[in-house]
Amino acid sequence: MNRTLLITGASRGIGAATARAAAARGWDVAVNYTHAAEAAETVAAEVRALGRRARVLQADVADEAQVVAMFQALDREWGALGGLVNNAGVVDVAARLDEMSGARIQRMFAINVFGTMWCAREAVRRMSTRHGGQGGVIVNLSSVAARLGAPGQYLDYAAAKGAIDSFTLGLAREVAHEGVRVNAVRPGIIETDIHASGGQPERARQMAPAVPMQRAGTADEVAQAIVWLLSDAASYTTGTVIDVTGGR
Ligand code: NAP
Repeated sequence: MNRTLLITGASRGIGAATARAAAARGWDVAVNYTHAAEAAETVAAEVRALGRRARVLQADVADEAQVVAMFQALDREWGALGGLVNNAGVVDVAARLDEMSGARIQRMFAINVFGTMWCAREAVRRMSTRHGGQGGVIVNLSSVAARLGAPGQYLDYAAAKGAIDSFTLGLAREVAHEGVRVNAVRPGIIETDIHASGGQPERARQMAPAVPMQRAGTADEVAQAIVWLLSDAASYTTGTVIDVTGGR
């Protein structure tokens, strides 16, 4: 299988940790980001330091045209694509549904759901044997919120991640006989900047007592599950969602 991997939202957090872990396992990595160009370049440099090729690609996954252009840029430079990690995702500040604006809910689904579906569509068009591809693997980032619902916090986010679980199952079965595996990882509370972006920078530490393991997870602990799903060791695994939640 081709060893080129696109990771969306790889300038920091779980995406950046996945870029490093994948490079260590022999993947060339395309690092997508929206705003943090310098951080994305740093991740690319870390990939190159591990002896693999790296490419930085700016694109807002919520914008279908930008997603299509990003895949076309990869076609021109690297040819075939072997893997996609649909990692880009956002939360918003804690709120009840009756306090949420339509714009907030639309953005939540545009980035977390539509972005994932557009990237997966472009990947299938390149990986599937139905389209002359050589196969490939897709990993989507869900969240434990899909199981818990996140009432009073961000049920828009939880609902979007619930959509990712359904999408993962459906796409996996749709392309299973075309050489493409599709799985998801469902992280629990992980120490990244996503909590600060939702107005709760201390959330990972505060939530630790609610986790059976009594601690938040690290981005690398999630990355390890992702790179296993990307690997040939997971060759008979598709349509699966792996919880990385410390037991929560
Ligand atoms: P993070 O630290 O906030 O990083 C998010 C990344 O996504 C950044 O690289 C950001 O790049 C990028 N991004 C945001 N909007 C984007 C867009 N429209 N297009 C392309 N890239 C975009 O997040 P994280 O904690 O690593 O989370 C990664 C994934 O895991 C997300 O899907 C999240 O929902 C999921 N997850 C996280 C946790 C957790 O506790 N951390 C738990 C469950 C699930 P720029 O800075 O350049 O915009």
